[in-house]
Amino acid sequence: MSDRPVRTRIAPSPTGMMHIGTARTALFNWLYTRHTGGQFLLRVEDTDRERSTEAAVQVIFDGLAWLGLESDEPPVFQFARADRHREAVDDLLARGQAYRDYMLPQELEAERERARAEGRVVRSPWRDADPATWPARGYAVRLKSPLDGETVVADAVKGDVTFQNAGLDDLILLRTDGNPTYNLAVVVDDHDMGITHVIRGDDHLNNAARQTIIYRALDWEVPVWAHLPLIHGPDGAKLSKRHGAQAVGEFDDMGYLPETLRNYLAKLGWGHGDDEIFSDAQAIEWFDIRDVVSAAARLDWAKLNHLNNHYIRQADPARLAALVAAILKSRDVTLRQGDETLIAHTVPFVRDGAKTTLELADAVLFVLKTRPLELPEKTRTQLDAEMLGRIGRLRTALADVGEWAVPPLEMAMRAFADAEGIGMGKFGPQLRAVLAGGSPAPDLAGAMTALGRDESLGRIDDALSLVT
Ligand code: GLU
Repeated sequence: MSDRPVRTRIAPSPTGMMHIGTARTALFNWLYTRHTGGQFLLRVEDTDRERSTEAAVQVIFDGLAWLGLESDEPPVFQFARADRHREAVDDLLARGQAYRDYMLPQELEAERERARAEGRVVRSPWRDADPATWPARGYAVRLKSPLDGETVVADAVKGDVTFQNAGLDDLILLRTDGNPTYNLAVVVDDHDMGITHVIRGDDHLNNAARQTIIYRALDWEVPVWAHLPLIHGPDGAKLSKRHGAQAVGEFDDMGYLPETLRNYLAKLGWGHGDDEIFSDAQAIEWFDIRDVVSAAARLDWAKLNHLNNHYIRQADPARLAALVAAILKSRDVTLRQGDETLIAHTVPFVRDGAKTTLELADAVLFVLKTRPLELPEKTRTQLDAEMLGRIGRLRTALADVGEWAVPPLEMAMRAFADAEGIGMGKFGPQLRAVLAGGSPAPDLAGAMTALGRDESLGRIDDALSLVT
C-alpha cells in the first residue's frame, strides 16, 4: 500500500450531461480525500473531439460546482497531453515493453477469426519481429503483455480480482494514425498527476488489469484501486431514462438541494451504521473506501424526498428564497422589488410539507398575489350574506390581536369560534380562500403571519366589499 499523500481524481468524459453515477464517484473520491487530508483533482477526458464541446465540458464544471465538489487544482485536459502520451509509448518501446505492429486491417480481421475459432485472444506476428523485417508503412504500437501467469487487481472494494494474462491481448497503445488509446492515456495522466487512489465505477474493473500491466511495464507505482458498484433503479435494473432523472442537472431542475444529493449519494454503497442523515463533516470523518459495499446500490425516490424535505427545513430562508425566485422567474412569474424578501419571510411558514424547492415555490405563491385577489368561483358562491357576516365579525376580532404572530392569531380564532358556537371548519376554508385566492396556503395563522397584518386584513376587506 502506498504511503504517498493521497491524491484522487474524477475523470469524466464530456458527454453533455453529468450522470448521477459520476456524481457519486466524485463524492466518494472527495470524501476519501478530505478524510485523509489529501487532494481531489479533475481530469477532463476529452479525447472524443466530437462530443467534447465547450458546452459539454461546462456541464461537468457546473455539475461539480453545484454539488460543492470542486477540484483542488486546475483541471487537466487529456487531449492536450497527447504528446506526453506518445512520449510514454516511446519509453515503452525503448524498454522492449511494446512493439510496432504492422498488421494490415485485413490481416487483423483474419487473425481475429482464427483467434475466435481457437478460443484465444488475438496475437500479432510482429510481437518479436526483427527490426530488419519492418516494412516501410504505418504501424500501431502494442503493449507486450505477459503471455501467461496472472494479474491481480487488489481492489479496496472488491478484494483481489485475478485476471489470467493469457486472456488479455496485447493492448494497442498508439493507433496507426498516431493517436494514443484510452488505457494508455489514463495511466500516463494518473501517474503524472500523482494519483494514489483510483476510485471509479466498476465498469472499469477490466481496464484496471490492463492498466496495472502498463504501470509495471513503465516501472511506475500502481495506485490503489477502488471500483464502486453501479447505481441501479428502484427495480434493480441498471439506471436508465425510464427510472426518471439520471443527470445531476435534472436533480437540480427537479428541486433537490446539493446537500441532499451529497447525503443521499453517500448512502448509495456506503453508510455509517443506520445513520440516514449526516453532515458533510460527519461523512468526511467516517468515510473509508474499505467500507464501500460491492453490491449495486438502488435509487430510492422516497428516501431522497425525505432527505430533501429535511434539508429544506434546515436551509437558510434567504438562500431558499433566491432558489424559489429563480424557479418562479422560469415560470414567467413577474417578481416585484421586495418579493424575494417576502418569500424569505414566508418560507418558514410553508416549508414543512415541501419535498422539493418546486413545491416550495408553489407554496409561497399566495403571498405574492396583489389585491384585490381573484377568488375562485366556488369561494364566491360560498361567500353568502351569512358567511360574510361571520367573516366580518372575525375581522374585528383579528384586528384586535396585539402581536401579529402564530400563537395569538390561533388563540383569537379559537376564541372567535367559541364565541360564535361553531367549529373552525365553519369559516376556515373560506378564510383561507379569501387570504390565498385559491392557491395552496399553510394553516391560517401561518398564512396570516406570512402576509402580515395589513395585507391579511386588506384581503379580508376586499372579500367583505363583495357584499355591496
Ligand atoms: N473517462 C472515464 C469515464 O467517464 C473514467 C475513467 C477513469 O475513471 O479511469 O467513465
